[in-house]
Amino acid sequence: MFMSKSTSGGQFGWRGLLVRASVVALFVFAASFAWADGAFEKSIDFRDTLAKESTLKIALGSWTDAERQFVLQMLDELHQYAPGLFARATQSGPINLYRTAEDSPSHPAAAWARRRHENSLIFRDDFFQTGRPNHLGVEYSHWLFIHEIAHLADPVDSIGQSSDWTNVVEPRIRAVEDYFAADGKSLRDAMFAYLDKPAISRGLPSVYAAISLHEALAETTAAIYFNTTFEPPDDLKAVLIARLFSRPTAQDINNSTRYREAYVYYRNKRYLRAVQTLNKALDRDSEFAMGYYLRGFVNSNWGRLEKARADWTRGLELVPKSDVRVTGEMRNGIKFINDELGE
Ligand SMILES: [Zn+2]
Repeated sequence: MFMSKSTSGGQFGWRGLLVRASVVALFVFAASFAWADGAFEKSIDFRDTLAKESTLKIALGSWTDAERQFVLQMLDELHQYAPGLFARATQSGPINLYRTAEDSPSHPAAAWARRRHENSLIFRDDFFQTGRPNHLGVEYSHWLFIHEIAHLADPVDSIGQSSDWTNVVEPRIRAVEDYFAADGKSLRDAMFAYLDKPAISRGLPSVYAAISLHEALAETTAAIYFNTTFEPPDDLKAVLIARLFSRPTAQDINNSTRYREAYVYYRNKRYLRAVQTLNKALDRDSEFAMGYYLRGFVNSNWGRLEKARADWTRGLELVPKSDVRVTGEMRNGIKFINDELGE
């Protein structure tokens, strides 16, 4: 069951959040009461050190109590208003919550990186500054939080790459691109100039949403969650409410958990274990696109080039062309193998 976060019919805005930020101390008790069953504690992990298998290269700081409470409050609201989304974000294990050191160099993504296969969220100093509403009137850090949660909630792109989603979102992405192209602008130019209005009038919450299938998914999720003045089109909303805001299926959990395990084996060069783990997922779900994608990398690093090529060939049948990053990596991989094998 999904409920919009809006309360008492009013517009959910950043002012409410500022008021709540001042009652953080009271929230400590609410949090420990609401999650007395312990299930919640198991789904998040505030860390002061990197997880053992982590590949992140960041300098970590320590969480202050106030910062923890700030993040816990958002997690509590998420759990309460969108339990399915919360369940999906934690489907393959706890979310690692990292606080960067103050002098940590900036890293990709504006305020924190998304690390889906490590299920991590990274919080920088600027996350804890409030009073910065975005173009839809939602506090920047709250919006970003839900945006990143949406990425984590679709850890192996089963929704972002699905035909349900691509059918409704691709035409809108193209319309936004075409609009700026006619004006001689790239999407990136438009993004850095915060030209959101043309995207909004074409059914996307921001120009950033037009960057990729998954950014469209993350931005639209935030717009639904915060019930902003921008109302996502019914078809986009229907797909996300049916799929992203619903609890994960057994197959979702199996695929994402296996992917995550296999990724750790792969990073540790334990290729046999990585392949065995992915085989278990692909035996159960022969259309698990990202399973082929990752198995292709494992096989190619292991020197099994023909098997890698077969994996990526199958992957390319399943991943939509508009996922340019993933399809591009697989196509380059195949090209590399063809060259290596002199074909
Ligand atoms: Zn994103």
